[in-house]
Amino acid sequence: MAKILCVLYPDPQAGYPPTYARDGIPTIVRYANGQSAPMPSGPLGFKPGELVGCVSGALGLRAYLEKLGHELIVTSDKEGPDSTFEQHLPEAEVVISQPFWPAYLTAERIAKARRLKLAITAGIGSDHVDLEAAARAHFTVAEVTGSNSVSVAEHAVMLILALVRNYLPAHGIAACGVWNIADCVARSYDVEGMHFGTIGAGRIGMAVLRRLAPFGLHLHYTDPHRLSAQIEKELNLTFHSDAESLVRSVDIIDLHMPLYPSTEHFFDDAMFAKMKRGAYLVNTARGKLIERDAVVRALTSGHLAGYAGDVWFPQPAPADHPWRTMPFNGMTPHISGSTLSAQARYAAGTLEILESYFGGTPIREEYLIIDGGRLAGTGAESYKLT
Ligand code: NAD
Repeated sequence: MAKILCVLYPDPQAGYPPTYARDGIPTIVRYANGQSAPMPSGPLGFKPGELVGCVSGALGLRAYLEKLGHELIVTSDKEGPDSTFEQHLPEAEVVISQPFWPAYLTAERIAKARRLKLAITAGIGSDHVDLEAAARAHFTVAEVTGSNSVSVAEHAVMLILALVRNYLPAHGIAACGVWNIADCVARSYDVEGMHFGTIGAGRIGMAVLRRLAPFGLHLHYTDPHRLSAQIEKELNLTFHSDAESLVRSVDIIDLHMPLYPSTEHFFDDAMFAKMKRGAYLVNTARGKLIERDAVVRALTSGHLAGYAGDVWFPQPAPADHPWRTMPFNGMTPHISGSTLSAQARYAAGTLEILESYFGGTPIREEYLIIDGGRLAGTGAESYKLT
């Protein structure tokens, strides 16, 4: 029987919620690109809309795994050699982790994980796994592609509006009992007529473009895979063959490409210098796409008008991480892809992947990142190992 090691974020500080703000969530059966939402054959071990992404929620997997006689370890203790994660890693056949609270599977840890056959990302974005080392070690890396794409796209649109309209400072002014309208509006603009560009136009980038189209922005994108002429025409998109060209052209830049070695620190001082003065940068992709202190310098100098996002490095971010306090930021912890709506889909997708693995049937192609010692499925389309 297998040991399944599952790393999830800690429970709410007030304890696991007995009730919720709403009684349920809409059922989504298909995504915009036609892909079906997760369809495990067995029953879900939770009611959609429940908090399953934290330790007590256990992604609703306990009953399914224990019925098969497997051992499920669920922990949030993931850092250092004495952590629960490292103690169980050598015996684990399956590791499950979420990008929000990533169990970093470094090359050193992979060398200790002698029995590891499958690493599942309950969500999207498997950069917390050293993919080259995973390919060498010949275990499968799979994620629940599509499960939280719209969750993140909605969040990115919210951040764009929040930054450009100066929403967060204005809310702060209302909350502290005063009425300083001029202080609220002195940095507030309409997005209408601005130029917007996404770097990466896959599932999330496309969903953002579609959601922004009615706002009357000029829409730009760059991606190694050019979209169809039909989509470009429908959304009136301007394609840029490289990121530098896009960065020079737009007022709002939004990142939706994966993190891999050659996209690490994609935004450094040189890239910030190419941006228009007063541009905004939104990043719900990965913290390491940005050089940490370069963004602080760009905001402090006034070259960048605002930065918002939910992704950091490392995660959790230390209390003194400069992005918590830098000027004109709209940062949150990593939450955009972990709404209760998203949790229901990525927990169901994790169950679907486990059913395939233990049932000896193929894992859906679009869920694969590494398989058979190489990039596969969505991994082959979207990632590079260098
Ligand atoms: P996707 O695979 O559908 O799309 C990624 C796109 O990026 C692809 O079209 C790919 O061709 C493009 N790309 C790759 N390298 C690029 C480069 N150098 N420049 C420009 N484009 C490039 O993935 P997705 O579902 O849209 O997710 C994108 C990323 O968002 C994930 O890799 C993950 O890191 C992040 N994400 C974050 C959250 C969150 O909660 N904040 C949740 C889900 C995903």
